[in-house]
Amino acid sequence: MSKFVELSTKTKVPIVGLGTWKSLPGQVAAAVKKAIDVGYRHFDCAHVYQNQDEVGSGIQEKIKSGVVKREDLFVVSKLWCTFHEKSMVKGACKSTLAALKLDYLDLYLVHWPIGFKAGDNMFPSDEKGMAIPSNTNFLDTWEGMEELVDAGLVKAIGVSNFNHEQIEKILNKPGLKYKPVNNQIECHPYLTQEKLINYCQSKGITVTAYSPLGSPDRPWAKPEDPSLLNDPKIKEIANKHNKTAAQVLIRFHIQRNVIVIPKSVTPARIEENFKVFDFELSKQEMETILGFNRNWRVCAMGMAVNHKDYPFKADY
Ligand code: NAP
Repeated sequence: MSKFVELSTKTKVPIVGLGTWKSLPGQVAAAVKKAIDVGYRHFDCAHVYQNQDEVGSGIQEKIKSGVVKREDLFVVSKLWCTFHEKSMVKGACKSTLAALKLDYLDLYLVHWPIGFKAGDNMFPSDEKGMAIPSNTNFLDTWEGMEELVDAGLVKAIGVSNFNHEQIEKILNKPGLKYKPVNNQIECHPYLTQEKLINYCQSKGITVTAYSPLGSPDRPWAKPEDPSLLNDPKIKEIANKHNKTAAQVLIRFHIQRNVIVIPKSVTPARIEENFKVFDFELSKQEMETILGFNRNWRVCAMGMAVNHKDYPFKADY
């Protein structure tokens, strides 16, 4: 049985969800169906992953065959950086809903605080390879997000990759109608995010951990990069519990009341990653794992370091 994290809207979010970044269109529908069969009810999607159509097909098949009902699922998607103009937010959300074949999302996130030049290119860049910003402000984008709640297209709204100063700006926005309910951030033992998690949780904002296994399939991986799944100290803790390194890496978040969204398209791993509710890391083991922090990021979004809203220069 899955556990839940409660949003400020009182909705319960299944604490383990399936990630879908890099899941190929030919594989992801099968992965979604396998996940539903083994008990996942939460799916993490995004326009920029370019596979929402197939994710939606997998979900639809399971609804049509009566295995799950729409209301049993928690489906998340994200507004891409090229749609930050307030006037573009609703269209972007509607096209995501059409791809996913849903009439509402449970949670819609502003994927990054940074706006990119609108257009077909999702990563518009200059001759130096640096992102071309848009003339937008995420506080205006947020107003577009609030309209989606009022239009019934989404049940809740949140952010992703926002630092605490950026969240604070939203919370202090004059005329704020809906607070963000969630901040989805990179988090794992090499980036433990203690300050940002404490900040969010103190404000009633839930946290979701992305790249919990260190994203070994990230396109820019280098052989010399650290590997969480092969970390001997993580493996040692896993062995003590007769569990795998992946299961320890996932369990680590559950015990912090942090939602976690491991990605896999491999049936055995999809199953393995959900078998995390039958053991407990000791207080000492949690402390030990927190001690592995080295502020190492999978998703640093290097092309946007010069953007006015680049999130990762702040302390947290
Ligand atoms: P991840 O979940 O840390 O790692 C995925 C990789 O680990 C895949 O190569 C997968 O392989 C492998 N894997 C999965 N389970 C395994 C297991 N039990 N044993 C060994 N290897 C295993 O990486 P991620 O995809 O970067 O992050 C997870 C999700 O977070 C994404 O898919 C996406 O939904 C979300 N995300 C959001 C943002 C954001 O900006 N908001 C950024 C990054 C990620 P196979 O698939 O081949 O099995």
